[in-house]
Amino acid sequence: MARIGFVGLGNMGGPMARNLVKAGHTVIGFDIVPDALARAVAGGVTAAGSAAEAARGGADFVITMLPAGEHVRDAWLGSGGMAAASDPGAVLVDCSTIDVATAREVAAAVGRPMLDAPVSGGVMGAEAATLTFMVGGPAEAFARAEPILQAMGRNVLHCGEAGAGQAAKTCNNMVLAATMIVTCEAFTLAEKLGLSHQALFDVMSKSSGQSWSLTTYCPVPGPVPASPANRDYKPGFAAALMAKDLGLSQEAAQSVGIETPLGAHAHALYRRFLEQGGGEADFSGIIRMLRGGG
Ligand code: NAD
Repeated sequence: MARIGFVGLGNMGGPMARNLVKAGHTVIGFDIVPDALARAVAGGVTAAGSAAEAARGGADFVITMLPAGEHVRDAWLGSGGMAAASDPGAVLVDCSTIDVATAREVAAAVGRPMLDAPVSGGVMGAEAATLTFMVGGPAEAFARAEPILQAMGRNVLHCGEAGAGQAAKTCNNMVLAATMIVTCEAFTLAEKLGLSHQALFDVMSKSSGQSWSLTTYCPVPGPVPASPANRDYKPGFAAALMAKDLGLSQEAAQSVGIETPLGAHAHALYRRFLEQGGGEADFSGIIRMLRGGG
């Protein structure tokens, strides 16, 4: 069993760290928010006094699950001091969703094997240990980290060198946003045309309009009982996080000099939803804004 340092014990990191404990690993955790740390400790995580202390205590693997690129850079290379504190033989893993450029910059600067391993599956996936990990970085470090990631997820995919995990995540979420929006538009149009939600669901789920946004995460109540639409769009995956991810995909597109017009429009629609107070709602809640004409 491994010793694992885990920094960032929020909505995702908290349950992920607890799943590592359940799998029999020793987890030394830290979060700047005392409540988050206390919840993790209740789940069997050993509290560290700082990010560096967690990194030092996790001799085999050190994992971060932080909000954004600036937090990741600061934790590993800046005031967090994690890279310097960690054991030279440790595999370093960042599971946060951040921009490709920062992932590559941090991996190059830490000067030892580091993986970018963002996830999809949301808080439900983190709790149930059914996340999908998209991993970039050296093959040897991936091979060592794979069993650890499997204790927190169902699919662990090596996508290429440093930054490839973030690249895969940003492409996937751009598709997710666009399919969610157009699925919401289809239900809104069906409502106006007098077609029931269930009838549209039954047809589309067996036709070429089928997608994850429809069959797993249906944006209207009824057809998929577990979807956030059935609990007043309580997340799930908050619209604010989707807007953040779409910003990352637009940054990535700009950095390589291409346009992604549907991705850009999805970003604009989610930003408008946030301006209208939708940020805390699940991202499928954008159907409310679309019903109102956007
Ligand atoms: P969160 O805000 O709940 O958790 C982040 C945690 O990091 C917080 O508890 C915060 O206190 C802590 N933190 C911030 N700076 C710190 C520091 N310097 N040292 C220690 N702790 C620090 O966010 P989350 O929902 O857990 O998301 C984490 C990452 O996962 C984000 O990059 C997000 O985009 C990504 N993600 C989230 C979801 C989701 O559904 N929530 C799904 C997939 C990916």
